[in-house]
Amino acid sequence: PTSALPDRPEERVKVFVRIRPTKAEGETGGAVRAKADSKGLVIFREHANIPASEFEFDKVLGPSASQSDVYHAAVKPIVEDVLNGYNGTLMAYGQTGAGKTYSLSSIAADAIGMIPRAAAEVFSHIEQDGGHEYSVYMSYVQLYMELIQDLLRPESENLQIRENEGGVFVGGVHQQEVQNITQCLHLLSLGDRNRTIAFTALNAHSSRSHAVVMLTVIKRRSVSGTGDAEIQRVKVGKLFLVDLAGSERLKKSKSTGLRANEAKSINLSLTTLGMCINARADPNAAHVPFRDSKLTRLLQVCKVAALVRDSLGGNAKTSLLVAACDAAEHVDETLQSLQFGLRAM
Ligand code: ADP
Ligand code: MG
Repeated sequence: PTSALPDRPEERVKVFVRIRPTKAEGETGGAVRAKADSKGLVIFREHANIPASEFEFDKVLGPSASQSDVYHAAVKPIVEDVLNGYNGTLMAYGQTGAGKTYSLSSIAADAIGMIPRAAAEVFSHIEQDGGHEYSVYMSYVQLYMELIQDLLRPESENLQIRENEGGVFVGGVHQQEVQNITQCLHLLSLGDRNRTIAFTALNAHSSRSHAVVMLTVIKRRSVSGTGDAEIQRVKVGKLFLVDLAGSERLKKSKSTGLRANEAKSINLSLTTLGMCINARADPNAAHVPFRDSKLTRLLQVCKVAALVRDSLGGNAKTSLLVAACDAAEHVDETLQSLQFGLRAM
């Protein structure tokens, strides 16, 4: 039997802003900066039609913040929860080029991203814990134009969200057992390769899809029950790592055909995500529209209760990482991203 974990009070979404370094070419920095204090304020210098303003988040990580800094602030507490049988989610939001994929998926030796870091922490914890038996499963999917494709089994390109008494789940998704970090990294690169192949075939770009890595950690301990019976105590924790599609609004004049449909789909999913967040903040809201997009349905799988009021109950920690830059050229999009982040708090 799976021992019931105590329901914890719903936690609000924690919102982190990461400002990536300015690119040497083609960008004028200085439009945004992190305050030196720990209060996590961002100041917009007056720019075009946008007045100077300050925003407060749970934490602002400036251009000099390392991947390790981001991990410790936004991800480590979630991984610790997952190892204890709770669910947790990290979502990266922001315009294309703002640093979402770098933050989540980089495998550069001096800049390991959040996904490999989280997986490494899971396995190092398992190695040190002699008192439990663990199994770890990994899935990797992308959501493009309202279709969920299995990136580990790319021929499965229209997975369905299903629901039973145990909760919401992705029907038929491949769950690959992984024994160590090397196997995890191998699956990540396999999924990335399949993602690139799918998009090249469509002459499209992967930043137009949402990518979701799911790690399921099953933790077992045998305890002696009455008589000789052995009872297995089982805890299941799920970690979702979500690289959202670029939040930039497409210029209307440019959007035709496939690009227009992509834009419509991304807009629907990110707008619904925003509306769910708003509805949750308003206790009088009768309706949380999580059924209006596949993205919010998919997030229900991880019981993002802090985000989506879920009749099934929830206990998931959620961090939102808003990726931004300080380039004057992008100040409109950056402001939009920061406002999305503020609404989630
Ligand atoms: P996104 O996934 O949001 O579209 P990327 O993660 O691909 O953006 O980042 C765009 C570019 O900026 C990449 O070349 C990436 O390596 C670089 N970059 C992003 N964030 C950082 C950072 N914190 N430090 C150094 N380079 C970064
Ligand atoms: Mg990206």
